[in-house]
Amino acid sequence: MSINRRQWLKKATGAGVGLAAAGVLGVEAPEVQASTKKEKLEGVEEFTSACNFCACGCGMICHVKDGELINLEGDPDHVINEGALCAKGAAMSATHTSERRVKRPRYRAPGSDEWTELSWEEALDKIAHKIKANRDANWNATENIKGVDYQVNRTDAIGFIGAAQNTNEECYLITKASRLLGTVSVEHQARVCHGPSVPALSASFGRGAMTNHWLDMQHSKVFLIEGSNIAENHVMGMKWIKKAQAKGAIVIHVDPRFTRTSAGADIYARIRAGSDIAFLGAVINYIIQNKLYDEAYVKLNTNALLHSKSDFEFNDGLFSGFDEASHHYETTSWEYELDGTKKPSKAKSLDDPKCVFSTIKKFYSRYTLELGSQISGIPVDQIKLIAETMAKHKPGCIMYALGATQHTYGVQQIRCYGILQLLLGNIGVPGGGVNALRGEPNVQGSSDMAVLSHYLPGYLNYPTADQTTMKEWTKSNGTFREKFFINTMKAWFGDNATAENEYGYSMLPKRNPGKDYTLYGMMESAIRGQLKLAYIIGQNPAVTNANLKVTLAGLDNLDTLVVQELWETETAEFWRRPGVDPKTIKTEVFLLPAAYFMEKEGTISNAGRMVQWRYAAVNPPGEAKTDIEILDVLFNKVRALYKDSVDPKDQPLLKAQWNYPSNSRAESVLREIGGTDLKTGLPVNGIADLQPDGTTACGAWIYAGLFKGGKNLTKRRDNKTDPGGLGIYPGFAWTWPGNMHILYNRASCDEKGQPLNKDLPIVWWDDKLKKWAGWDVPDVPVATDGPDTPNGQRPFRMNGEGLGRLLAAAYKDPDPKDKELPRDVSYTPKDGPLPEFYEPIESPTANAMHPKCATNPCVKYPRLTDGRHPIGTRDKFPYVLMTSSMAEHWCCGSTTRNVPWLNELVPEPVVEIPEMLAIKLGLKHGEYASVSSARGEVTVKTVVTKRMQTLKINGEEIVSVWMPYNWGFKGLSTGPSTNVLTIDAVDPGAGTQETKACLVNIVAATKGGSHV
Ligand code: SF4
Repeated sequence: MSINRRQWLKKATGAGVGLAAAGVLGVEAPEVQASTKKEKLEGVEEFTSACNFCACGCGMICHVKDGELINLEGDPDHVINEGALCAKGAAMSATHTSERRVKRPRYRAPGSDEWTELSWEEALDKIAHKIKANRDANWNATENIKGVDYQVNRTDAIGFIGAAQNTNEECYLITKASRLLGTVSVEHQARVCHGPSVPALSASFGRGAMTNHWLDMQHSKVFLIEGSNIAENHVMGMKWIKKAQAKGAIVIHVDPRFTRTSAGADIYARIRAGSDIAFLGAVINYIIQNKLYDEAYVKLNTNALLHSKSDFEFNDGLFSGFDEASHHYETTSWEYELDGTKKPSKAKSLDDPKCVFSTIKKFYSRYTLELGSQISGIPVDQIKLIAETMAKHKPGCIMYALGATQHTYGVQQIRCYGILQLLLGNIGVPGGGVNALRGEPNVQGSSDMAVLSHYLPGYLNYPTADQTTMKEWTKSNGTFREKFFINTMKAWFGDNATAENEYGYSMLPKRNPGKDYTLYGMMESAIRGQLKLAYIIGQNPAVTNANLKVTLAGLDNLDTLVVQELWETETAEFWRRPGVDPKTIKTEVFLLPAAYFMEKEGTISNAGRMVQWRYAAVNPPGEAKTDIEILDVLFNKVRALYKDSVDPKDQPLLKAQWNYPSNSRAESVLREIGGTDLKTGLPVNGIADLQPDGTTACGAWIYAGLFKGGKNLTKRRDNKTDPGGLGIYPGFAWTWPGNMHILYNRASCDEKGQPLNKDLPIVWWDDKLKKWAGWDVPDVPVATDGPDTPNGQRPFRMNGEGLGRLLAAAYKDPDPKDKELPRDVSYTPKDGPLPEFYEPIESPTANAMHPKCATNPCVKYPRLTDGRHPIGTRDKFPYVLMTSSMAEHWCCGSTTRNVPWLNELVPEPVVEIPEMLAIKLGLKHGEYASVSSARGEVTVKTVVTKRMQTLKINGEEIVSVWMPYNWGFKGLSTGPSTNVLTIDAVDPGAGTQETKACLVNIVAATKGGSHV
């Protein structure tokens, strides 16, 4: 019998996780190995956890003796990392033991230049009173919007920021508490990183998540990696690519900089930063023109055959329906032609001139190889090679990260991947997919839990002021989503959510659709004096926000800032940043010491939607507390301040269901998230159990069923059972939705429901059992509705028409139950139903496709009219700057810059420039250079490499340079923040900034130049 390491330990100790393994080793293991393990494990407790850096979700084991962490290593029984950790992951014990951790609550009075320490009681009492005071003084029961008074029940004076490093349970409580307090200003890291992923992926496929998962990459035959340096930033993801590569898969890397990912690629294409849509458009056009697409898949699984409206147009960079004054599209012309039953009318062949396929064929015909090359700098032959390689090798996987998202057209760049993969038949199949490489440990879960101003948990659109009743909200969102909304309300308000009061709909604060509640909008609101109290948990916007001067000005203008953190971050200490006199800053600041991941329990969701439980291995240092405890205690303190209130504005706080036992807060919240049958009190088994009549409650519908059968399925550890041999491991943790690992997997079958790839079958229609079956959970509306029923032919069932969208048509499904649904039930990108190439807001060249419409017409920039949003031009700032993270330092660097050996590896920020530019500027490797943009200037060392090269774009030489953005003025390693330079123009559909392309100048400098 084969037995894995953990099973063996369990057997030997007679206990599971967390119990002593003393004296049990050396019994069955080889002698040498046994002696090593014995030394390490005798008298030691083991706790499993998962890494707190990127979203690979690598498993770790914490070894604890006498309450002390004595060792941390990769978990050899974890299905993703199989025992390995990257440099960052391996360095995590240093954070637990660091003397630099904040250990007691602190307070900085207005104008003071120092911290004073507080007791927890004092700190939380003061903060609770501040929240109440700001809420009471700045309450809007109603708001006049375009001449109409609406009930909004909202305060804009309080905002929450964070956090992708928190557990799902903490994120859920941030969302719930903030909405109960009456604010919709709730944001986190997803806004600045993968903001465009959800709208782009859902516009193409219906859901906004990574379609496949890490282990599935071993089945790919070709990879297109664009806008990602996966070898450095998702190291264990690269491991699965390497497995496929060892079996013959071809790796294509498209990036402006030759990175460690490029070094491992079979094809490397150097692209100009900001020109990806022109390159991808040329690839798509080549595939269409040369009939390299998968015709059977395209006809069966996409909207290619549906008829576009005859008044759909695209001219000179603009789609039909554009209103120049508002920068907004009216989308009626982007719909389908409907037949007599209000279903889209359908063509008989792809040659029908009115069908979607013909529409996109015409649209893409402008993207010739030559034009794609002229704009992107990638040679014609290489674009052709990439297109042919993608078409020839199936299945193929596309992977992207922030190089794709951080643009003013990020949604549309990711839409290109969706179109390309639908044409090639690569969605819903093992080894295929469009896979978003998430960079924070729980940015998937924090987005799922709606720590975002425009969502409720499970990506339900947040109610707006003009949706005055739940019925109105349902008209815009459909009865399908109404059911899930009701379940969230039941989870939040319990018996106080009834059919009579529309399940508490009126108790939610309502968004003003014309206001900007995003992270950038919040900082601008602080500058205007509207946002007065910011509560920031595990996020460091004073390093990570673009155009930092605006963020710092916002922090300067707050009345109160609360920071819940491990460290003295740049955000917590913004008032004593270099060059600023603390006396001039009147913001009072609370710094609350928080626990690190191994010091608390709860779940995180990795990029592949796997929700896994982490155990608390050790206590937090000093008086630090878990975020969930701080949030719970603080919320109860605020609520107690209102206990006798009869004011309608306070009823959401008083009527909310909020009872989490102090000895099991995380599991209790997770139960609320996963759903309960209120008639029996038992957990629901899945989404299908959720009812629209208030008899079930579920905090986040997409997580329904993670307590199926009464057990916490996120704790499961079966790494042996993989019936199809596909790397699915259905008994390891739990994956949303419903433990499904490959989304849209119905598309892997033919019309009759049989697998098209006989080597990699994943689901199929079992004619004997009369149901869908397979190695994964079949992605079908009803498991017993066969291929001969309409439900059996909806491979992209979340879209109204049940098909993958080449053209992101605005469409309502005329389901008889949903008669009142408007046309825009499914998401349609704000800036077009097809991805068009636009230059970055700061560009070194003209738009070769439509010079008069050079940049995305839906972008509103500058947003501030006081000079804080300058736009640089090429005459003063001739070089293109792109920024990113690296293997040794992570995001704002507040954790990694406090690890001495990571600082030894990469001690300071740099600017990487090509040799040609170094010669021109008279700079040598290691000398200092001043880098300036229209927004600021920093001085850093120069790294001169061949990894950066000049490109010929539109007939001119264009130079790109690169900088990491991981530094600030706090920590063991300090240095200037690159985001002083970057631009905060944002994608109109995602609010994510254009950190991957702005203009800078570079000159030689001496050490000691500007640092902020
Ligand atoms: S940073 Fe990512 S790849 Fe590295 S150990 Fe952590 S989860 Fe794994």
